[in-house]
Amino acid sequence: MGVGVAPAAPRGTIRVLSLHELTKETDVEHTLPALPYAMDALAPHISKETFEFHYGKHHQAYVTNLNNLIKGTEFENLGLEDIVRKSSAGIFNNAAQVWNHTFFWHSMKPNGGGEPTGALAAAINAKWGTFAAFKEAFTKSAVGNFGSGWTWLVKKADGTVDIVNTSNAGTTLTSGDKALLTIDVWEHAYYIDFRNARPKFVETFLNSLVNWDFAAQNFA
Ligand code: MN
Repeated sequence: MGVGVAPAAPRGTIRVLSLHELTKETDVEHTLPALPYAMDALAPHISKETFEFHYGKHHQAYVTNLNNLIKGTEFENLGLEDIVRKSSAGIFNNAAQVWNHTFFWHSMKPNGGGEPTGALAAAINAKWGTFAAFKEAFTKSAVGNFGSGWTWLVKKADGTVDIVNTSNAGTTLTSGDKALLTIDVWEHAYYIDFRNARPKFVETFLNSLVNWDFAAQNFA
């Protein structure tokens, strides 16, 4: 079995994976994890064409590069998360991008959006006052994340929530923060569907795509 491989969900259904399932690793060859929905499931917001490139080409390339780079190294028999935590340079970049993208696909779902409930909603309100204020802060962070990177909602060690930006392949796996959800703000994430309009992409993510069930599961 490879990285985060789970049985393919029947079309039209969504199987929410635990973080452990997303990242477990039991042998050497890393593989591209299955998407939690069909490639056209987030259209018209994110097109099938975007998934063909972003998942089928970019995410796949990180997996392929990682397998090539770790051959004959101390990382050859490690699980993906261990590689991310212990490596640097090219191996880190590719391993972290494999993990980040898998986490991003699960941060969205068809007919997503809406608002969180329960303990996560309470934590968000404790931090930002209102859900609208959280959305404003998240949008400002994602739109202002210079160049290529990721914007995350995280749970900190003290149990509070926060918004964190990382650059390039930067990931919360190497910080003390637990990722709840993420948006990829590399241009390849939105250029086909939104051209240069990152603010519209972030707005669409929050209003129509974000998977609060996944975030709540990570928060619990
Ligand atoms: Mn990407």
